Amino acid sequence: MKKQEREHYKKRLLKMREAILSKAKKLKEDSYSLGTDGIQDMADAASNSYNADILMSISDNDLKLLKDIDSSLDKIVKGTYGVCEECEEKISEKRLEANPVARYCITCKRLMEEKGI
Ligand SMILES: [Zn+2]
Repeated sequence: MKKQEREHYKKRLLKMREAILSKAKKLKEDSYSLGTDGIQDMADAASNSYNADILMSISDNDLKLLKDIDSSLDKIVKGTYGVCEECEEKISEKRLEANPVARYCITCKRLMEEKGI
């Protein structure tokens, strides 16, 4: 995969990650909005880091997605992004575009679905 493409997917993954985290932060802030003075977390909100407290307010689905995003970002760093984890063939661009966290090529994915994995 070309550097330019890697950058493209990296940006998309980071955006997805940010969306989940900001949704979680918002949920957390909403639950705190009664009774506190709202000063807390002002510095924290500016950073991209997350803590256990925020993770608590993320749904299971989002948490799973977050893990997939992190492992995809990890693969971009290692240079294995866009390669099927099963057959080690390249995952099509169309598939990555539709689902940047895809771990398997469409052939392997279909086979797994047929087998019910
Ligand atoms: Zn495959």
